[in-house]
Amino acid sequence: MASVPSNFIRNIIQRDQKYYKHFGRVATRFPPEPNGYLHLGHAKSICLNFGLAAEFGGTCNLRYDDTNPAREELEYVESIKADVRWLGFDWEGREYYASDYFEQLYDFAVQLIQEGKAYVDSLSAEEIREHRGTLTEPGKESPCRNRSVEENLDLFRRMRDGEFEDGAHVLRAKIDMASGNMNLRDPTIYRIRKVAHHRTGDQWCIYPMYDYTHCISDSLEGITHSLCTLEFEDHRPLYDWVLDELAVYHPRQIEFARLNLSFTVLSKRKLIRLVTEGHVSGWDDPRMPTIQGVRRRGYPAGAIRTFCDRIGVAKRDSVVDFALLEHCVREDLNRTAPRVMGVLRPLKVVIENYPQGESEELEAINNPEDEGMGIRKVPFSRELYIEQDDFMENPPKKFFRLAPGREVRLRYAYFITCRDVIRDENGEITELRCTYDPETRGGDAPDGRKVKATLHWVSAPHAADAEVRLYDRLFNTESPGAGKGDFIEHINSDSLEVLTGCKLEPSLADAAPESRCQFERLGYFCADLRDCRPDRLVFNRTVPLRDPWAKIAKKKK
Ligand code: ATP
Ligand code: MG
Repeated sequence: MASVPSNFIRNIIQRDQKYYKHFGRVATRFPPEPNGYLHLGHAKSICLNFGLAAEFGGTCNLRYDDTNPAREELEYVESIKADVRWLGFDWEGREYYASDYFEQLYDFAVQLIQEGKAYVDSLSAEEIREHRGTLTEPGKESPCRNRSVEENLDLFRRMRDGEFEDGAHVLRAKIDMASGNMNLRDPTIYRIRKVAHHRTGDQWCIYPMYDYTHCISDSLEGITHSLCTLEFEDHRPLYDWVLDELAVYHPRQIEFARLNLSFTVLSKRKLIRLVTEGHVSGWDDPRMPTIQGVRRRGYPAGAIRTFCDRIGVAKRDSVVDFALLEHCVREDLNRTAPRVMGVLRPLKVVIENYPQGESEELEAINNPEDEGMGIRKVPFSRELYIEQDDFMENPPKKFFRLAPGREVRLRYAYFITCRDVIRDENGEITELRCTYDPETRGGDAPDGRKVKATLHWVSAPHAADAEVRLYDRLFNTESPGAGKGDFIEHINSDSLEVLTGCKLEPSLADAAPESRCQFERLGYFCADLRDCRPDRLVFNRTVPLRDPWAKIAKKKK
């Protein structure tokens, strides 16, 4: 934890602890609305809430803000749990639902009515909007505002009993129609919605609004620090009003800036469109910034946690460079991912002076960053594959890899020299004829002669066939969500390239789904969670090796 920079929220908690506020207790919650899959923005909130709780020996609840019956689904509830767990956090059984509090919330509403602090309004939604006023003009009071307590109680009970149609009445908090803060202009706290709820079924036909529900849920759960994103800053006076008027335990709401990432969108509403309009294959498409998407892409959970630590929390909105996230992914994988050899676009090489039908095993290092990961054996034989673009028939000056007459090193194996180029009837190169120098076994020449390139390769008869999916950014502009126009127009039409007939070293033949590795010289890859099977290998490229962030960081220094 020492390397993590401090932030204003941690400072607040430290001060609260010093003065023994909340008896030194720290209780946070992560409160998703189950109306979509979690994305990297949620990861920031998860790391913050669970992270601070862990750091201060406190607790963090998982709470579903399920007040909107129409949009919520069980599928989302389950996916959220899986994602939080995968990110490495544990709510230790403290799984709560705002819908569990419906009865309590109703009782509190009755209490507000009894105390003259809430009233049933029978204006239409349209009229309520007109009465609200604007930022520069005060609102107008509704003619229903001064209904008697008895009439309000009667109407509210009948709302609950299902006597009225949707929109006929709402319950509003009686605060101040002239307030400079629009959220305090008698906000609606209950509305009629004759829709079944995924947990309470047909039990209710009135549903509490988010602002009213959230603060009471926090209070009932004894939350000490209620962390939310900046757009709720203007809602804080309402949060405080409700709890003060009800005279119940009062947590503190603290706002922080939401995560924005370049070249992507982080909003469930937008992500849903990508899925339903078929721009991606699903919520877990490896190009999606959802937790399931980046997981399938091969991002380790630890890299996402590191990223969230590095970006920190601030009070001002900003956009974080996607390259920083990828940098954290590379840093993690560099330490943890075994190196292997795989050829994406194979070109056959025949070693003419290597005996027919024979093969041998050569030693390869699994991870130069971690000796403990050991070594493995890689088979070598007369027929190999190398990468097509590691050969040029007429190489320009700066091309140091294989060319006619030139000698290069095959990683962990031998020096080879290209002797001949074989073509098919269309003039396409189909095969290279080479010779090897048996004296260079392991990759060094005893006479000290040097070569300018080391290529990766795979032995043809031993190779495992695979499909490899290469991904690029899903959007080709830096802030696809900002500005005018539809963000869909900024989709990068070349964001997926599928290569079939790739050749991998045999150690990958039984790669488990989600296992990660570095294909030497090519990048980090991950066996696809859904599609990779023993009889059909499918790998996703997680990130290429080149790290633009390292350059950016250097320049900044
Ligand atoms: P979206 O805008 O994607 O619909 P949301 O805020 O409506 O997100 P919720 O399910 O209500 O989604 O969010 C759960 C928690 O995650 C909230 O506390 C919210 O503030 C936080 N959160 C959502 N998006 C981000 C983000 N981009 N950065 C940080 N926290 C976020
Ligand atoms: Mg929301």
